Amino acid sequence: MPVTITFDLEDNRRSDAQEERFVWMSHRFLDFVEERGIRATVFIVGEIARSHGALVRRVADAGHEVGLHGLRHVTLGEVGPSRLLEELREGRELVEQIIQGPVRGFRAPIFSLTPSTAWAVGQIGEAGFAYSSSVLPATNPLHGWPGAPSRPFRWENGLIEFPCPVGGLGRVQIPFLGGIYMRYVPLTVARRFLRALGEGAVPWSYSHPYDVDTQEPFSVMPHAGWLVSRILHTRRAATLPRLQAIIDAGGSHGRPLGEIAEHLDGVELPRVASTS
Ligand SMILES: [Zn+2]
Repeated sequence: MPVTITFDLEDNRRSDAQEERFVWMSHRFLDFVEERGIRATVFIVGEIARSHGALVRRVADAGHEVGLHGLRHVTLGEVGPSRLLEELREGRELVEQIIQGPVRGFRAPIFSLTPSTAWAVGQIGEAGFAYSSSVLPATNPLHGWPGAPSRPFRWENGLIEFPCPVGGLGRVQIPFLGGIYMRYVPLTVARRFLRALGEGAVPWSYSHPYDVDTQEPFSVMPHAGWLVSRILHTRRAATLPRLQAIIDAGGSHGRPLGEIAEHLDGVELPRVASTS
């Protein structure tokens, strides 16, 4: 089962005084996928399009799909219902201006599309996105939507959702193909979870610039306490080799999410109401 490679291009610095390591790390990740002929889906924070146009252009010029990862890297709840639509439109325009092409996909920062931010579904559709990749269908210490389908579905407004692939036992389900989970879950277990996703699933992996940064000095990250920051800071050298092993386990790498969404146009998918 081919695994689509995705990357969330964000700036995790706490202040502008810190080094811009996310830029080098993004290039490191892009080098890795491009050396393997992989076209990824890269979700970019709109503000980065404003400040780092050359980096964003590199992503598009290499043939990757470019999606939006919010205008700012804050949760949907923090943006709030009165500002989200405006921010989605502004972020999308910023990125589209740089890449001179359409942006069809949206990923909410920190998978923050949850039952408490369900109001965002309508605004994501209204902002012109064809698909979202914002739901973690499990209970999670940060954000999650337990009970949401684990395979692609459509919201009531037609917006396609590619939920984050999870694996586990019973109620304990983890996003084993991304971030810290990808580097901590033993490979044999990850292979088993991958097989268990079954037909109709769209497996995708996610990484961040800091996931490949083996030399970053430790600091407590925004949205994470000390302990989570510690966990996020360790085993980073394992990220790229593990990603390679996951691609091998899937048989090959998958296509960008936008191409899969296009293919699903006209295909019957389960319908999910964002409000119940
Ligand atoms: Zn993010």
